[in-house]
Amino acid sequence: MNSQDATVNSMQQIAYPIGNRLYLNITDRCTLVCRFCPKNTDLGPKVHDYDLTLEHRPEVEEITAAIGDPAKWEEIVFCGFGEPTLRFKALKAVAAWIKERGGRVRVNTDGLGNLVNKRNILPEMKGLVDSLSVSLNAQDAETYDLHCQPQLKGSWPAVVEFLRQAPQYVPKVTATAIDGLEGVDIEACKKLASELGVTFRRRELDKVG
Ligand code: SF4
Repeated sequence: MNSQDATVNSMQQIAYPIGNRLYLNITDRCTLVCRFCPKNTDLGPKVHDYDLTLEHRPEVEEITAAIGDPAKWEEIVFCGFGEPTLRFKALKAVAAWIKERGGRVRVNTDGLGNLVNKRNILPEMKGLVDSLSVSLNAQDAETYDLHCQPQLKGSWPAVVEFLRQAPQYVPKVTATAIDGLEGVDIEACKKLASELGVTFRRRELDKVG
């Protein structure tokens, strides 16, 4: 077992590989309480065979140690059962560390970073984040609220605005929605994404990526 294997098999699953991508699990906090999230069901926070339960929120040094050599992965993705922009300072520090070592950075986000942080955080991603995958999740606020149960008012319009502004700062921006959830109109989500100037990806329930 090499040091990377030792890291990915450690009790605290900070980094977990799927294919040629490495995923980072930096927080378990969310402002959404999505009904479809395994974290909110009896299944618990598990992806493939990885248990993403965090004993503590890892420090920047713990995260970089868990990554090892960033250049060996096609992409390093901030994605766990928590919203990475809730730890935006740590996210930026790790992303800068990855970029300095020739890695590529993707952030999977709920798109509520501006609402939660009470400022536009997108300019701070410029040069640090290569790709954003934003959970649009629904074509309107009512359907979004039904499935995501946002804790903050105005969440769906905030996601839409985040998507509208993101391409100014991040080269590749994708909106996603999960096919098969009651009332979610995938074609309408796709159309909205197109109007916002971003690409769209249909996701399948319980598939991470
Ligand atoms: S934002 Fe993601 S991690 Fe948080 S509750 Fe929703 S699906 Fe789960």
